[in-house]
Parts: sequence; structure tokens; C-alpha cells
Amino acid sequence: MQAFRLVGWRQPPELHEVPIPDPGPGQILVKVGGAGACHSDLHVMEAPAPLPGFTELPLTLGHENAGWVESVGPGVTGFGPGDPVIVYGCWGCGVCSNCRRGRENYCQNLAGQGPGLGGGHDGGMAEYLLVPAARYLIPLGALDPRQAAPLTDAGLTSYHAVKRSLHLLGPGSTAVVIGAGGLGQLTIQILRALSAATTVIAVDTDAGKLDTAGHMGADLALLSGDETTTRIRDVTGQQGAELVLDMVGIEPTLRMAAQVARTLGHLTIVGLGGAALPVDFSSPPHECSVASPYWGYLPELMEVITLAQQDKIKVLVEHFPLARAGEAYQLLHDGKIRGRAVITPHD
Ligand code: NAD
Ligand code: ZN
Ligand code: ZN
Repeated sequence: MQAFRLVGWRQPPELHEVPIPDPGPGQILVKVGGAGACHSDLHVMEAPAPLPGFTELPLTLGHENAGWVESVGPGVTGFGPGDPVIVYGCWGCGVCSNCRRGRENYCQNLAGQGPGLGGGHDGGMAEYLLVPAARYLIPLGALDPRQAAPLTDAGLTSYHAVKRSLHLLGPGSTAVVIGAGGLGQLTIQILRALSAATTVIAVDTDAGKLDTAGHMGADLALLSGDETTTRIRDVTGQQGAELVLDMVGIEPTLRMAAQVARTLGHLTIVGLGGAALPVDFSSPPHECSVASPYWGYLPELMEVITLAQQDKIKVLVEHFPLARAGEAYQLLHDGKIRGRAVITPHD
């Protein structure tokens, strides 16, 4: 089969012919319907040297996958050929206390293995994907895998980041989302679906993304610039927002995040831009908690799928055949993907 593979650090990934995996005991082979192109893959491709925890190259990219069960290995029950499924991408040991709670994104026993699918294991930018255990598959019901694939990362990461702060988002509260791309657009919809926040503010450098953010439920969509901080502070009566989610994580966005967060609020860094947030006694504001969530919990993915089945969240997808995966990442790099690029290997 064809697979889009990272073959060297700081080298563009390439399409290669690889064998179709054979599912062993407990494993499932998934025919890939859609594999989302996440900005994190760009960070991986641009990394100067092997990232900690990544296995040796070559490695098939793609950690945002959905498709149909192709075949199951000995002992697998509950799933059969043709079932539409989405794949939870963080594969832990399954038995540590975090894994037993469904928090495989924080497995305590990874012992130097990769951080998950597309990191330590071959990902889904290929015709087929080998999944090590049935617990990683969530039934999609009537959802189309080509449409749903981004829900397992862009959706789940956003959901987890919002859910942990829901207690702050009562009536009258404000949430700010910096970066309205693949993740940010889902974050805005999830804030609307889950919280009672009165005001949702989107910030981006791209006018088109802000337009989309408005359609997805943002009350206010602001171009990122010198005035943005003042505007957000004015809107919140100089108090700042209860929750600020930075989906970019570079120096100017982190600085803005600290300036628009409120005392006792949450500042949540989701973007892997790599900058550091300066912390001193008064910035971020007093008792404002800072967190850097990584992906989300397995049971939360079931909740995300339910929201999508209820039509409460939608992904703006653009489809690309596997042969154009490199082009999809180039467009993402250039800021030209409106929502999420999804590779569809069987179209
Ligand atoms: P994306 O490219 O689709 O979206 C990024 C958005 O940020 C774009 O709309 C872009 O215009 C905007 N932006 C860029 N610079 C900005 C600035 N200075 N101010 C405001 N907006 C700006 O990327 P994505 O796939 O949504 O990923 C977003 C980030 O989240 C990436 O860094 C990615 O690696 C990270 N990520 C983290 C996790 C996690 O578990 N924490 C999971 C997935 C992705
Ligand atoms: Zn990702
Ligand atoms: Zn574990």
C-alpha cells in the first residue's frame, strides 16, 4: 500500500510503498477513510532533530484517523468488517492508573516509546492503519469517516481544554480563543455547546479565519494586533477573560494571553509554538492557573462524537488524495487551509 512517510528530520515526507499490516491477536486493521493534517505534524517535520519519544524513522504520519474496520485479529470482539470507526490516537500501556481511567494521553509507563499514533507508531496517512486494541475504536454511527477524522485530535484536544475549565464559564463570563484554525474553530463550537459563557472572542491574524470563527459561534472576532488586548479588556470591564486558550503558543500570543486573562482565571496553552510564558508575581494575574493539556481522554472522545452526531459541532474539511498529502501540508504551512485538510487514501 501507499503511505506518506517521514524519512528524515527536516526533510519533506515522501510517499512510499509499504506492506499492508496483518492484524495479530487483539489488533484491528482499519481501512483509512480520512486522516487529518494537523499543525503538530508541521512542528515535527520542522524539528531540528529527533523529538523526544519518537521512534526511529521512517514513520508514517497521521494521528487523526477514521475509517472502516477491514479485518480483526484473533480474540477481537465487538467490531467487524465494514464498521465505521474513529481511532483514539494516544496509545498507552492500558494498565497504569491513568490508562485505567481512560487517560492514555498521560500514560505513566510509556518508557521512552512515542507519544502516540503518528509519533511512536505508524499513522493513518496510508491506505490502512493497524490499531493495537479494540478499546481505541469508537463507533461513528451515521457520521462519515472522511468528515469526522479531525474530531479525534482537533475535536478531542479542544474538548478536553474547554471541559477542564467549564466551572469558570458561567453566565456573564468570557472565553478567548487565540488562533481560529483547525483546533480553534472546534474550540469555539465546543464552548458554545458546553458552556454558559456569555462572550466568546476569537483572535487570529487571518481575516478569513475570523469570518469562519463568527459563523462557528464567536461573538467577537478580532485581528491580532496592538489594539486587541485593549479591546478584550474593554469588553470585560477591565477584568479580563475567565478562560484564555492559546492555540498558537508563540511569544506574542502568550504575551496577549497573560494580558487578557483574569485574576483567578485559566490560561491554557494548547499551541506548540514553543515560546515560554514569563511568570512573575503579578503576571499572569493573581491565582490565574496555567495549564498545557496534551490531547484528551478516551471517554471524552465518545462525548465529542456524540456532539457531532447531534450536529452541535462540525469540521470544515477540505479533502486531498494521498498523492497530494505533501501539498496539503504546504497549504497548511502557508495558512491557506480554511479549516482542516483531510487526506482520503481511498478516493
Ligand atoms: P492551524 O494552522 O490550523 O491553525 C493555527 C491558527 O493560528 C491559524 O488560523 C493562524 O492564522 C493562527 N495564528 C497564527 N499566528 C497567530 C497569531 N500571532 N495570533 C493569532 N492567531 C495566529 O493549526 P492547528 O492544527 O489548529 O494547531 C494549532 C496548534 O495546536 C499547533 O501549534 C499544534 O501543534 C497544536 N496542537 C496541540 C495539541 C495538544 O495536544 N496540545 C493537539 C493538536 C494540535
Ligand atoms: Zn494533532
Ligand atoms: Zn499507562
